[in-house]
Amino acid sequence: MATLEQLRFDNSYARLPASFGVSLAPSPFPDARLVSVSPGALRLLDLEPSEARRPEFLLAFGGARLLPGMAPFAMVYAGHQFGVYVPRLGDGRALLLGEALNSAGERWDVQLKGSGPTPYSRMGDGRAVLRSAIREYLCSEAMHGLGIPTTRALCVLGSGEPVYREEVETGAMLVRLSPSHVRFGSFEFFHYSGQHDHVKVLADYVIARHFPHLADAPEKYARFYAEVVERTARLLAHWQAVGFAHGVMNTDNMSILGLTLDYGPFGFLDDFDPGFICNHSDEGGRYAFGQQPRIALWNLACLGEALFSLLSEEEARSALTAYQPTFFSHFHARMREKLGLRESREEDRSLIEALFGRMAATQVDYTRFFRALGRFDSSPGARNDALRDHFVDREGFDSWAEDYRRRLAAEGSQDAERRARMDRVNPKYVLRNHLAQTAIERAQAGDFREVDRLRALLEDPFSEHPEHEASAQPPPSWGRHLVVSCSS
Ligand code: AMP
Ligand code: MG
Repeated sequence: MATLEQLRFDNSYARLPASFGVSLAPSPFPDARLVSVSPGALRLLDLEPSEARRPEFLLAFGGARLLPGMAPFAMVYAGHQFGVYVPRLGDGRALLLGEALNSAGERWDVQLKGSGPTPYSRMGDGRAVLRSAIREYLCSEAMHGLGIPTTRALCVLGSGEPVYREEVETGAMLVRLSPSHVRFGSFEFFHYSGQHDHVKVLADYVIARHFPHLADAPEKYARFYAEVVERTARLLAHWQAVGFAHGVMNTDNMSILGLTLDYGPFGFLDDFDPGFICNHSDEGGRYAFGQQPRIALWNLACLGEALFSLLSEEEARSALTAYQPTFFSHFHARMREKLGLRESREEDRSLIEALFGRMAATQVDYTRFFRALGRFDSSPGARNDALRDHFVDREGFDSWAEDYRRRLAAEGSQDAERRARMDRVNPKYVLRNHLAQTAIERAQAGDFREVDRLRALLEDPFSEHPEHEASAQPPPSWGRHLVVSCSS
Protein backbone atom coordinates (compact mmCIF):
# COMPACT_ATOMS: atom_id res chain seq x y z
CA MET A 1 0.00 0.00 0.00
CA ALA A 2 1.18 3.47 -0.88
CA THR A 3 0.62 7.06 0.12
CA LEU A 4 -0.21 9.70 -2.47
CA GLU A 5 3.39 10.85 -2.41
CA GLN A 6 4.55 7.37 -3.34
CA LEU A 7 2.40 7.09 -6.48
CA ARG A 8 4.32 6.99 -9.71
CA PHE A 9 2.95 8.38 -12.96
CA ASP A 10 3.98 8.37 -16.57
CA ASN A 11 2.13 9.56 -19.67
CA SER A 12 3.25 7.47 -22.59
CA TYR A 13 0.30 8.61 -24.70
CA ALA A 14 1.39 12.23 -24.40
CA ARG A 15 4.72 11.26 -25.97
CA LEU A 16 3.07 10.08 -29.20
CA PRO A 17 3.32 12.44 -32.21
CA ALA A 18 1.87 15.92 -31.88
CA SER A 19 -1.31 15.14 -33.81
CA PHE A 20 -2.45 12.69 -31.09
CA GLY A 21 -3.75 15.51 -28.90
CA VAL A 22 -2.72 18.47 -26.80
CA SER A 23 -1.11 18.97 -23.43
CA LEU A 24 -2.93 21.42 -21.22
CA ALA A 25 -3.67 22.09 -17.59
CA PRO A 26 -7.04 21.23 -16.02
CA SER A 27 -9.32 23.96 -14.69
CA PRO A 28 -9.91 22.83 -11.10
CA PHE A 29 -12.89 23.86 -9.00
CA PRO A 30 -11.90 26.29 -6.23
CA ASP A 31 -14.32 24.56 -3.87
CA ALA A 32 -13.84 20.90 -4.79
CA ARG A 33 -15.12 18.43 -2.23
CA LEU A 34 -15.20 14.68 -2.12
CA VAL A 35 -18.59 13.19 -2.90
CA SER A 36 -17.63 9.53 -2.87
CA VAL A 37 -14.60 7.35 -3.38
CA SER A 38 -14.43 3.70 -4.39
CA PRO A 39 -12.20 1.62 -2.10
CA GLY A 40 -11.88 -1.04 -4.83
CA ALA A 41 -10.63 1.51 -7.34
CA LEU A 42 -8.26 3.01 -4.75
CA ARG A 43 -6.71 -0.44 -4.40
CA LEU A 44 -5.91 -0.47 -8.12
CA LEU A 45 -3.61 2.47 -7.37
CA ASP A 46 -2.31 0.81 -4.17
CA LEU A 47 -3.95 3.57 -2.12
CA GLU A 48 -5.37 3.04 1.37
CA PRO A 49 -8.91 4.40 1.90
CA SER A 50 -7.49 6.89 4.41
CA GLU A 51 -5.47 8.59 1.64
CA ALA A 52 -8.73 9.79 0.09
CA ARG A 53 -9.53 11.79 3.21
CA ARG A 54 -6.42 13.93 2.87
CA PRO A 55 -6.77 17.41 1.33
CA GLU A 56 -3.88 16.44 -0.98
CA PHE A 57 -6.10 13.80 -2.56
CA LEU A 58 -8.63 16.43 -3.65
CA LEU A 59 -5.87 18.66 -4.95
CA ALA A 60 -4.18 15.89 -6.94
CA PHE A 61 -7.26 14.21 -8.39
CA GLY A 62 -9.17 17.45 -8.80
CA GLY A 63 -6.42 18.74 -11.07
CA ALA A 64 -5.24 21.56 -8.76
CA ARG A 65 -1.83 20.25 -7.74
CA LEU A 66 -0.49 17.53 -9.99
CA LEU A 67 1.50 14.62 -8.67
CA PRO A 68 4.99 14.01 -10.08
CA GLY A 69 4.86 12.36 -13.49
CA MET A 70 1.32 13.51 -14.29
CA ALA A 71 1.17 15.23 -17.68
CA PRO A 72 -2.43 16.24 -18.49
CA PHE A 73 -3.32 15.54 -22.08
CA ALA A 74 -6.49 15.79 -24.19
CA MET A 75 -6.71 12.89 -26.65
CA VAL A 76 -8.08 13.52 -30.10
CA TYR A 77 -10.53 11.13 -31.70
CA ALA A 78 -13.36 11.12 -34.20
CA GLY A 79 -16.36 8.88 -34.51
CA HIS A 80 -19.61 7.84 -36.09
CA GLN A 81 -22.37 9.42 -34.02
CA PHE A 82 -25.78 7.90 -34.73
CA GLY A 83 -24.34 6.64 -38.01
CA VAL A 84 -22.93 9.98 -39.15
CA TYR A 85 -19.18 10.52 -39.30
CA VAL A 86 -17.90 13.44 -37.21
CA PRO A 87 -14.29 14.10 -38.22
CA ARG A 88 -13.09 15.61 -34.97
CA LEU A 89 -14.29 14.92 -31.46
CA GLY A 90 -11.70 14.29 -28.76
CA ASP A 91 -11.56 14.88 -25.02
CA GLY A 92 -13.77 17.95 -24.87
CA ARG A 93 -14.23 17.80 -21.14
CA ALA A 94 -11.65 15.32 -19.96
CA LEU A 95 -7.91 15.08 -19.56
CA LEU A 96 -5.70 12.07 -19.27
CA LEU A 97 -3.69 13.04 -16.17
CA GLY A 98 -1.27 10.20 -16.64
CA GLU A 99 -0.78 6.50 -16.21
CA ALA A 100 -0.44 5.34 -12.62
CA LEU A 101 2.06 2.52 -12.24
CA ASN A 102 0.97 0.14 -9.49
CA SER A 103 2.85 -2.52 -7.56
CA ALA A 104 1.28 -5.27 -9.69
CA GLY A 105 3.13 -3.81 -12.67
CA GLU A 106 -0.08 -2.44 -14.23
CA ARG A 107 -0.57 0.93 -15.84
CA TRP A 108 -3.89 2.63 -15.14
CA ASP A 109 -4.90 5.63 -17.20
CA VAL A 110 -6.17 8.23 -14.75
CA GLN A 111 -8.62 10.47 -16.53
CA LEU A 112 -10.27 13.53 -15.08
CA LYS A 113 -13.71 14.02 -16.59
CA GLY A 114 -15.27 17.45 -16.27
CA SER A 115 -11.90 19.21 -16.09
CA GLY A 116 -12.77 22.26 -18.18
CA PRO A 117 -12.59 23.25 -21.84
CA THR A 118 -10.05 21.88 -24.30
CA PRO A 119 -9.53 22.50 -28.02
CA TYR A 120 -12.00 19.64 -28.58
CA SER A 121 -14.84 21.15 -26.56
CA ARG A 122 -16.69 22.46 -29.65
CA MET A 123 -19.72 24.26 -28.17
CA GLY A 124 -19.42 22.58 -24.76
CA ASP A 125 -18.23 24.05 -21.48
CA GLY A 126 -15.87 21.22 -20.64
CA ARG A 127 -17.76 20.44 -17.47
CA ALA A 128 -19.72 17.52 -16.13
CA VAL A 129 -22.62 17.76 -13.72
CA LEU A 130 -23.07 15.96 -10.43
CA ARG A 131 -25.93 13.90 -11.88
CA SER A 132 -23.88 12.43 -14.72
CA ALA A 133 -20.74 11.97 -12.63
CA ILE A 134 -22.68 9.97 -10.03
CA ARG A 135 -24.34 7.86 -12.73
CA GLU A 136 -21.00 6.97 -14.31
CA TYR A 137 -19.37 6.39 -10.93
CA LEU A 138 -22.05 4.04 -9.67
CA CYS A 139 -22.46 2.18 -12.92
CA SER A 140 -18.72 1.63 -13.51
CA GLU A 141 -18.32 0.08 -10.09
CA ALA A 142 -21.60 -1.84 -10.44
CA MET A 143 -20.52 -3.32 -13.78
CA HIS A 144 -17.26 -4.36 -12.20
CA GLY A 145 -19.23 -6.01 -9.41
CA LEU A 146 -21.23 -7.88 -12.04
CA GLY A 147 -18.02 -9.15 -13.63
CA ILE A 148 -18.53 -7.14 -16.83
CA PRO A 149 -15.50 -5.53 -18.51
CA THR A 150 -15.58 -1.81 -17.78
CA THR A 151 -13.60 1.30 -17.07
CA ARG A 152 -13.49 2.01 -13.33
CA ALA A 153 -14.33 5.06 -11.27
CA LEU A 154 -12.06 6.28 -8.51
CA CYS A 155 -14.14 9.10 -7.12
CA VAL A 156 -16.61 11.88 -7.71
CA LEU A 157 -15.69 15.41 -6.73
CA GLY A 158 -18.41 18.00 -6.30
CA SER A 159 -18.49 21.76 -6.49
CA GLY A 160 -20.97 24.57 -6.06
CA GLU A 161 -20.12 25.96 -9.50
CA PRO A 162 -23.26 26.35 -11.61
CA VAL A 163 -23.28 24.44 -14.89
CA TYR A 164 -25.98 25.18 -17.45
CA ARG A 165 -27.80 22.22 -18.97
CA GLU A 166 -31.53 21.92 -19.59
CA GLU A 167 -31.67 23.51 -16.17
CA VAL A 168 -28.97 24.92 -13.84
CA GLU A 169 -27.04 22.13 -12.17
CA THR A 170 -23.78 22.03 -10.24
CA GLY A 171 -20.40 21.03 -11.58
CA ALA A 172 -18.64 17.82 -10.68
CA MET A 173 -15.68 15.75 -11.77
CA LEU A 174 -15.27 12.04 -12.14
CA VAL A 175 -11.88 10.39 -11.91
CA ARG A 176 -11.93 7.45 -14.25
CA LEU A 177 -9.44 4.62 -14.37
CA SER A 178 -8.90 2.43 -17.39
CA PRO A 179 -6.10 0.38 -18.86
CA SER A 180 -6.75 2.47 -21.98
CA HIS A 181 -8.95 5.27 -23.24
CA VAL A 182 -8.29 4.47 -26.90
CA ARG A 183 -11.55 4.19 -28.84
CA PHE A 184 -12.53 2.91 -32.26
CA GLY A 185 -12.84 6.62 -33.06
CA SER A 186 -9.16 7.20 -32.24
CA PHE A 187 -8.27 5.07 -35.26
CA GLU A 188 -11.00 6.64 -37.37
CA PHE A 189 -9.58 10.10 -36.74
CA PHE A 190 -6.21 9.25 -38.28
CA HIS A 191 -7.63 7.11 -41.08
CA TYR A 192 -10.20 9.59 -42.37
CA SER A 193 -7.81 12.52 -42.07
CA GLY A 194 -5.37 10.63 -44.30
CA GLN A 195 -2.73 10.17 -41.58
CA HIS A 196 -2.16 6.50 -42.29
CA ASP A 197 1.30 6.54 -40.76
CA HIS A 198 -0.37 7.54 -37.50
CA VAL A 199 -2.91 4.74 -37.77
CA LYS A 200 0.13 2.49 -37.65
CA VAL A 201 1.73 4.41 -34.76
CA LEU A 202 -1.50 4.07 -32.78
CA ALA A 203 -1.91 0.38 -33.62
CA ASP A 204 1.70 -0.32 -32.64
CA TYR A 205 1.23 1.59 -29.40
CA VAL A 206 -1.97 -0.27 -28.51
CA ILE A 207 -0.48 -3.63 -29.42
CA ALA A 208 2.71 -3.01 -27.45
CA ARG A 209 0.80 -1.92 -24.39
CA HIS A 210 -2.31 -4.09 -24.45
CA PHE A 211 -1.73 -6.99 -26.82
CA PRO A 212 1.97 -7.71 -26.15
CA HIS A 213 1.56 -11.33 -27.23
CA LEU A 214 0.96 -10.02 -30.77
CA ALA A 215 3.94 -7.69 -30.93
CA ASP A 216 6.08 -10.04 -32.97
CA ALA A 217 3.31 -12.08 -34.54
CA PRO A 218 3.09 -12.40 -38.30
CA GLU A 219 -0.05 -10.59 -39.51
CA LYS A 220 -0.13 -8.81 -36.17
CA TYR A 221 -2.63 -6.18 -37.30
CA ALA A 222 -5.07 -8.78 -38.56
CA ARG A 223 -4.80 -10.66 -35.30
CA PHE A 224 -5.18 -7.46 -33.32
CA TYR A 225 -8.37 -6.62 -35.20
CA ALA A 226 -9.66 -10.17 -34.73
CA GLU A 227 -9.06 -9.87 -30.99
CA VAL A 228 -10.94 -6.58 -30.80
CA VAL A 229 -13.83 -8.28 -32.62
CA GLU A 230 -13.70 -11.13 -30.10
CA ARG A 231 -13.57 -8.85 -27.05
CA THR A 232 -16.39 -6.72 -28.36
CA ALA A 233 -18.55 -9.78 -29.03
CA ARG A 234 -17.87 -10.98 -25.50
CA LEU A 235 -18.77 -7.58 -24.05
CA LEU A 236 -22.04 -7.48 -25.96
CA ALA A 237 -22.91 -10.98 -24.74
CA HIS A 238 -22.47 -9.68 -21.17
CA TRP A 239 -24.63 -6.62 -21.81
CA GLN A 240 -27.43 -8.61 -23.39
CA ALA A 241 -27.37 -11.29 -20.70
CA VAL A 242 -27.49 -8.83 -17.78
CA GLY A 243 -29.99 -6.51 -19.48
CA PHE A 244 -27.78 -3.44 -19.88
CA ALA A 245 -28.45 -0.82 -22.54
CA HIS A 246 -25.55 1.56 -23.17
CA GLY A 247 -27.61 4.21 -24.89
CA VAL A 248 -24.95 5.89 -27.07
CA MET A 249 -23.03 3.23 -28.96
CA ASN A 250 -21.24 5.71 -31.19
CA THR A 251 -17.83 4.53 -32.37
CA ASP A 252 -16.16 7.15 -30.16
CA ASN A 253 -17.68 5.37 -27.15
CA MET A 254 -16.37 1.94 -28.15
CA SER A 255 -13.28 0.84 -26.24
CA ILE A 256 -10.46 -0.79 -28.17
CA LEU A 257 -10.17 -3.21 -25.22
CA GLY A 258 -13.82 -4.26 -25.26
CA LEU A 259 -14.62 -2.41 -22.03
CA THR A 260 -17.88 -0.66 -21.26
CA LEU A 261 -16.88 2.97 -21.83
CA ASP A 262 -18.58 6.37 -21.47
CA TYR A 263 -21.61 5.94 -19.30
CA GLY A 264 -24.25 8.43 -20.33
CA PRO A 265 -27.96 7.71 -20.67
CA PHE A 266 -27.50 3.98 -19.99
CA GLY A 267 -30.22 1.87 -18.42
CA PHE A 268 -30.76 -1.59 -17.00
CA LEU A 269 -33.92 -3.33 -18.07
CA ASP A 270 -36.72 -3.30 -15.59
CA ASP A 271 -39.32 -5.19 -17.64
CA PHE A 272 -37.86 -7.31 -20.37
CA ASP A 273 -38.32 -5.38 -23.60
CA PRO A 274 -36.01 -5.79 -26.60
CA GLY A 275 -37.24 -2.41 -27.86
CA PHE A 276 -36.14 -0.61 -24.66
CA ILE A 277 -34.62 2.78 -25.52
CA CYS A 278 -32.84 4.39 -22.59
CA ASN A 279 -31.60 7.48 -24.40
CA HIS A 280 -34.21 10.16 -24.69
CA SER A 281 -32.39 11.63 -27.73
CA ASP A 282 -32.46 8.32 -29.63
CA GLU A 283 -35.77 8.87 -31.34
CA GLY A 284 -35.36 6.16 -33.95
CA GLY A 285 -34.25 3.54 -31.46
CA ARG A 286 -30.92 2.99 -33.20
CA TYR A 287 -29.42 2.00 -29.84
CA ALA A 288 -32.43 0.14 -28.45
CA PHE A 289 -31.50 -2.76 -26.19
CA GLY A 290 -32.17 -5.46 -28.76
CA GLN A 291 -30.22 -3.60 -31.47
CA GLN A 292 -26.95 -3.49 -29.55
CA PRO A 293 -25.28 -6.65 -30.89
CA ARG A 294 -25.98 -5.55 -34.47
CA ILE A 295 -24.71 -2.02 -33.79
CA ALA A 296 -21.49 -3.37 -32.30
CA LEU A 297 -20.91 -5.26 -35.54
CA TRP A 298 -21.55 -2.08 -37.52
CA ASN A 299 -19.07 -0.25 -35.30
CA LEU A 300 -16.50 -3.00 -35.75
CA ALA A 301 -16.90 -2.64 -39.51
CA CYS A 302 -16.08 1.07 -39.10
CA LEU A 303 -12.98 0.13 -37.15
CA GLY A 304 -12.01 -2.34 -39.87
CA GLU A 305 -12.36 0.43 -42.43
CA ALA A 306 -10.13 2.67 -40.30
CA LEU A 307 -7.47 -0.07 -40.23
CA PHE A 308 -7.65 -0.33 -44.01
CA SER A 309 -3.99 0.68 -44.43
CA LEU A 310 -2.87 -2.18 -42.15
CA LEU A 311 -5.20 -5.00 -43.17
CA SER A 312 -6.14 -6.72 -46.37
CA GLU A 313 -9.81 -6.71 -47.23
CA GLU A 314 -9.81 -10.47 -46.80
CA GLU A 315 -8.35 -10.20 -43.28
CA ALA A 316 -10.92 -7.61 -42.26
CA ARG A 317 -13.76 -9.64 -43.70
CA SER A 318 -12.70 -12.85 -42.06
CA ALA A 319 -12.36 -11.18 -38.62
CA LEU A 320 -15.79 -9.60 -38.98
CA THR A 321 -17.38 -12.86 -40.07
CA ALA A 322 -16.39 -14.31 -36.72
CA TYR A 323 -18.44 -11.71 -34.84
CA GLN A 324 -21.89 -13.29 -35.02
CA PRO A 325 -20.89 -16.84 -34.06
CA THR A 326 -18.60 -15.49 -31.31
CA PHE A 327 -21.34 -13.27 -29.92
CA PHE A 328 -23.88 -16.09 -29.93
CA SER A 329 -21.54 -18.58 -28.41
CA HIS A 330 -20.72 -16.21 -25.51
CA PHE A 331 -24.33 -15.10 -25.19
CA HIS A 332 -25.65 -18.63 -25.03
CA ALA A 333 -22.96 -19.55 -22.53
CA ARG A 334 -24.05 -16.62 -20.33
CA MET A 335 -27.75 -17.53 -20.73
CA ARG A 336 -27.12 -21.19 -19.96
CA GLU A 337 -25.44 -20.09 -16.75
CA LYS A 338 -28.40 -17.88 -15.94
CA LEU A 339 -30.69 -20.88 -16.43
CA GLY A 340 -28.42 -23.04 -14.33
CA LEU A 341 -27.55 -25.41 -17.18
CA ARG A 342 -24.11 -26.95 -17.03
CA GLU A 343 -24.19 -28.74 -20.34
CA SER A 344 -24.68 -27.24 -23.76
CA ARG A 345 -27.38 -28.87 -25.86
CA GLU A 346 -28.91 -28.31 -29.24
CA GLU A 347 -32.36 -27.45 -27.84
CA ASP A 348 -31.06 -24.76 -25.43
CA ARG A 349 -31.34 -22.00 -27.96
CA SER A 350 -35.05 -22.57 -28.46
CA LEU A 351 -35.57 -22.87 -24.70
CA ILE A 352 -33.93 -19.45 -24.25
CA GLU A 353 -35.83 -17.89 -27.11
CA ALA A 354 -39.15 -19.26 -25.93
CA LEU A 355 -38.50 -17.74 -22.51
CA PHE A 356 -37.64 -14.36 -24.00
CA GLY A 357 -40.80 -14.46 -26.08
CA ARG A 358 -42.95 -15.10 -23.02
CA MET A 359 -41.12 -12.50 -20.94
CA ALA A 360 -41.53 -9.84 -23.60
CA ALA A 361 -45.22 -10.64 -24.01
CA THR A 362 -46.01 -9.97 -20.35
CA GLN A 363 -43.31 -7.46 -19.36
CA VAL A 364 -41.64 -9.59 -16.76
CA ASP A 365 -39.01 -7.91 -14.58
CA TYR A 366 -35.77 -9.24 -16.04
CA THR A 367 -33.49 -9.20 -13.00
CA ARG A 368 -36.10 -10.38 -10.52
CA PHE A 369 -37.28 -13.23 -12.69
CA PHE A 370 -33.82 -14.74 -13.18
CA ARG A 371 -32.99 -14.35 -9.53
CA ALA A 372 -36.26 -16.12 -8.68
CA LEU A 373 -35.64 -18.86 -11.23
CA GLY A 374 -32.86 -20.13 -8.98
CA ARG A 375 -35.66 -21.24 -6.63
CA PHE A 376 -37.36 -23.29 -9.33
CA ASP A 377 -38.58 -26.58 -7.92
CA SER A 378 -37.84 -29.16 -10.59
CA SER A 379 -39.72 -32.06 -8.99
CA PRO A 380 -42.44 -33.36 -11.33
CA GLY A 381 -45.79 -31.70 -10.73
CA ALA A 382 -44.33 -28.84 -8.62
CA ARG A 383 -46.39 -25.70 -9.18
CA ASN A 384 -43.75 -23.01 -8.72
CA ASP A 385 -46.39 -20.44 -7.85
CA ALA A 386 -43.98 -17.66 -6.97
CA LEU A 387 -42.39 -17.90 -10.39
CA ARG A 388 -45.56 -18.22 -12.43
CA ASP A 389 -46.86 -15.07 -10.72
CA HIS A 390 -44.25 -13.10 -12.68
CA PHE A 391 -46.35 -13.83 -15.78
CA VAL A 392 -49.81 -12.70 -16.78
CA ASP A 393 -50.08 -15.77 -19.00
CA ARG A 394 -49.48 -18.34 -16.27
CA GLU A 395 -50.35 -21.34 -18.43
CA GLY A 396 -47.82 -20.11 -20.98
CA PHE A 397 -45.20 -20.10 -18.26
CA ASP A 398 -46.27 -23.59 -17.12
CA SER A 399 -45.63 -24.96 -20.57
CA TRP A 400 -42.15 -23.38 -20.70
CA ALA A 401 -41.45 -24.58 -17.16
CA GLU A 402 -42.24 -28.15 -18.19
CA ASP A 403 -39.64 -27.93 -20.99
CA TYR A 404 -37.18 -26.41 -18.52
CA ARG A 405 -37.86 -29.14 -15.96
CA ARG A 406 -37.19 -31.83 -18.56
CA ARG A 407 -34.02 -30.10 -19.69
CA LEU A 408 -32.74 -29.92 -16.10
CA ALA A 409 -33.60 -33.57 -15.54
CA ALA A 410 -31.74 -34.51 -18.72
CA GLU A 411 -28.47 -33.35 -17.16
CA GLY A 412 -29.27 -34.75 -13.71
CA SER A 413 -29.51 -31.29 -12.18
CA GLN A 414 -29.87 -31.02 -8.37
CA ASP A 415 -31.95 -28.05 -7.22
CA ALA A 416 -29.87 -26.93 -4.24
CA GLU A 417 -26.58 -27.06 -6.10
CA ARG A 418 -28.11 -25.40 -9.16
CA ARG A 419 -29.58 -22.63 -7.06
CA ALA A 420 -26.20 -21.83 -5.53
CA ARG A 421 -24.66 -21.65 -9.01
CA MET A 422 -27.47 -19.48 -10.37
CA ASP A 423 -27.21 -17.05 -7.46
CA ARG A 424 -23.61 -16.43 -8.45
CA VAL A 425 -24.60 -15.28 -11.95
CA ASN A 426 -28.11 -13.82 -11.56
CA PRO A 427 -27.65 -10.55 -9.67
CA LYS A 428 -30.15 -9.57 -7.06
CA TYR A 429 -29.26 -5.87 -7.39
CA VAL A 430 -28.63 -3.80 -10.51
CA LEU A 431 -28.38 -0.02 -10.87
CA ARG A 432 -31.94 0.64 -11.88
CA ASN A 433 -32.54 4.22 -12.99
CA HIS A 434 -34.75 5.05 -10.05
CA LEU A 435 -32.05 3.96 -7.57
CA ALA A 436 -29.49 6.21 -9.23
CA GLN A 437 -32.04 9.01 -9.34
CA THR A 438 -32.71 8.89 -5.60
CA ALA A 439 -28.99 8.92 -4.83
CA ILE A 440 -28.53 11.88 -7.18
CA GLU A 441 -31.34 13.91 -5.66
CA ARG A 442 -29.99 13.40 -2.15
CA ALA A 443 -26.47 14.26 -3.29
CA GLN A 444 -27.76 17.43 -4.92
CA ALA A 445 -29.14 18.32 -1.49
CA GLY A 446 -25.71 17.69 0.04
CA ASP A 447 -26.22 14.19 1.42
CA PHE A 448 -23.85 11.68 -0.20
CA ARG A 449 -24.70 8.67 1.95
CA GLU A 450 -27.05 7.09 -0.59
CA VAL A 451 -24.30 7.22 -3.23
CA ASP A 452 -21.99 5.36 -0.86
CA ARG A 453 -24.65 2.88 0.12
CA LEU A 454 -25.43 2.00 -3.50
CA ARG A 455 -21.77 1.76 -4.45
CA ALA A 456 -21.09 -0.68 -1.63
CA LEU A 457 -24.24 -2.72 -2.33
CA LEU A 458 -23.59 -2.97 -6.06
CA GLU A 459 -20.04 -4.11 -5.51
CA ASP A 460 -21.57 -7.36 -4.26
CA PRO A 461 -24.77 -7.77 -6.29
CA PHE A 462 -24.99 -11.57 -6.07
CA SER A 463 -25.28 -11.90 -2.29
CA GLU A 464 -28.46 -11.40 -0.30
CA HIS A 465 -28.42 -8.16 1.69
CA PRO A 466 -31.71 -8.28 3.64
CA GLU A 467 -31.25 -4.75 4.97
CA HIS A 468 -31.21 -3.50 1.35
CA GLU A 469 -34.24 -5.46 0.19
CA ALA A 470 -35.93 -2.29 -1.08
CA SER A 471 -33.15 -1.88 -3.67
CA ALA A 472 -34.10 -5.20 -5.25
CA GLN A 473 -37.71 -4.16 -5.85
CA PRO A 474 -39.10 -3.14 -9.23
CA PRO A 475 -39.26 0.61 -9.78
CA PRO A 476 -42.06 2.65 -8.23
CA SER A 477 -44.36 4.19 -10.82
CA TRP A 478 -42.39 7.48 -10.89
CA GLY A 479 -39.23 5.53 -11.72
CA ARG A 480 -40.56 3.43 -14.57
CA HIS A 481 -39.93 5.76 -17.44
CA LEU A 482 -37.30 8.21 -16.29
CA VAL A 483 -35.99 10.25 -19.16
CA VAL A 484 -32.22 10.36 -19.50
CA SER A 485 -30.62 12.33 -22.28
CA CYS A 486 -27.11 12.83 -23.64
CA SER A 487 -26.77 16.34 -22.21
CA SER A 488 -24.69 15.67 -19.16
P1 AMP B 1 -20.28 11.90 -25.22
O1 AMP B 1 -21.66 12.04 -25.79
O2 AMP B 1 -20.22 12.23 -23.73
O3 AMP B 1 -19.64 10.60 -25.53
O4 AMP B 1 -19.40 13.05 -25.89
C1 AMP B 1 -19.26 13.22 -27.27
C2 AMP B 1 -18.26 14.32 -27.54
O5 AMP B 1 -18.72 15.55 -27.01
C3 AMP B 1 -16.89 14.09 -26.93
O6 AMP B 1 -15.93 14.62 -27.81
C4 AMP B 1 -16.95 14.88 -25.65
O7 AMP B 1 -15.67 15.28 -25.20
C5 AMP B 1 -17.77 16.07 -26.08
N1 AMP B 1 -18.49 16.66 -24.95
C6 AMP B 1 -19.55 16.16 -24.28
N2 AMP B 1 -19.95 16.97 -23.30
C7 AMP B 1 -19.13 18.04 -23.33
C8 AMP B 1 -19.03 19.25 -22.58
N3 AMP B 1 -19.86 19.52 -21.58
N4 AMP B 1 -18.06 20.12 -22.93
C9 AMP B 1 -17.22 19.87 -23.93
N5 AMP B 1 -17.26 18.76 -24.67
C10 AMP B 1 -18.21 17.86 -24.40
MG1 MG C 1 -17.99 9.76 -25.40
